[in-house]
Amino acid sequence: MRRWRRILWRSLGWDRLLRSVVLSMAMLTVLNTMAKDSNVSAERVPKTLLVIVDGIPTDVIERVKTPGLDVLTSHGAFSHAYVGGEVGEVTESPTVSAVGYMSLLTGTWSNKHNVRANYDLAPDYDYWDIFRVAKQQDTSFTTGLFSTWTDNRTVLLGDGLAQAGGDKFDFVADGFDKDPSFKPDLDELERIQAIDHEVTRRAVETITHEGPDLSWVYLQHTDDVGHLSGDGPEMDRAVRWIDARLAQLWSAVEARQAEHRAEDWLVLVTTDHGRSLEDGKHHGGQSVRERTTWIATNSRSVEFDPTTPPAIVDIFPSVAIHMNFKIPTNVRRQLEGRSLIHKEGSLDAK
Ligand SMILES: [Zn+2]
Repeated sequence: MRRWRRILWRSLGWDRLLRSVVLSMAMLTVLNTMAKDSNVSAERVPKTLLVIVDGIPTDVIERVKTPGLDVLTSHGAFSHAYVGGEVGEVTESPTVSAVGYMSLLTGTWSNKHNVRANYDLAPDYDYWDIFRVAKQQDTSFTTGLFSTWTDNRTVLLGDGLAQAGGDKFDFVADGFDKDPSFKPDLDELERIQAIDHEVTRRAVETITHEGPDLSWVYLQHTDDVGHLSGDGPEMDRAVRWIDARLAQLWSAVEARQAEHRAEDWLVLVTTDHGRSLEDGKHHGGQSVRERTTWIATNSRSVEFDPTTPPAIVDIFPSVAIHMNFKIPTNVRRQLEGRSLIHKEGSLDAK
C-alpha cells in the first residue's frame, strides 16, 4: 500500500511540485521582506532629542553609576568632548552654562553667538539656531522645548522674535522657574529639582503622544548641587538622580519608536561645561577639567574619532545631517563644527 502511494506520488511529480511550491513561497517571503525593508528605509522619519544635563564633569559621569545613560549608550556610543573653543584663539569661550547652550544651539563659539555669561544676554541672532533652521525647511518640522530655565527659549532662542526668525515652538514646558506659585514651600535647590522633575514628565508626555521632530530638554539640578557642595557624595547623588530622568526620557523614546516603526530617533545627551579641579564648585575658566565634557548617544550612525574628541559645536551639523535639513549657505559658512554623522550624498559627508 505504502509502495503504491509512493509510486503514485512520483508518477504525478507531486514531490517536485511540492518542492517548487515551497521554494517559490520562500522566495516570495524574501522578496517581501526586502521590499518592506526598502520601504521602511525610504520612508524613515528622522527625529532628534537633545538633552543637556548641567555641569557634570566627565570624571564624575564616568565614576558614578548611571544605569539610565548606560542603557542609552548600549545602543550607541559615549565620548569625551569639549567646550570653550580653542584656548588663546578668537573662539575661546567661557566655560559657562548659557555660553555652552548657545554653542550647542548655533554651532558657533561665543565670538560669534555673542553670549559670554549667564546674564546681560545679547545673543546675535544672525547665527541661526538649529530650531530656526528646522522651521525654514520646505516641509514643516515640529519643535519642542522642555526647560528648567525659561531664558533658553525667550532670550537665547528668541522664540517668536522677528529678529530671530519669528517662529515659535510647537510644544513648550518651561516658565516654572519664573512662576512664584510653583512649589513655593521648597527651598531653591529642591524647587529647581522639582522643576527638573516636572519638565521631564512633560517632555515624556509630549514625546510619547506627539513625537516632535526636534526637541531639547534642559535640566539644571546637578549644577546647583555642584556650586553648593562641590565634588563629593551630594554631587554623586545628584548625578544618579538626574540619570533617572535620562532613563525616563530614553524609555519614552524607545516606546515611541517601538510603536512608530518608521521613526528614526537620534538622542544626544551632553553637558555644558566641567568644573574646577580643586573642589568642583566653580567653572568658567579654561582648565582641562572645566573644558572637558562628554556626549552620549543611542545612535550607531554617530562616529566618534578616538584621537580627536568632538566639540559641543559638532552637534548642530550632526543634527542637520540626521534630519536631512538644508542649511542656508550663509548659515552653513559660519558653522565651527563638523558632523559626527556621515550620510552619502550630503554636503557634510565630504
Ligand atoms: Zn552649566
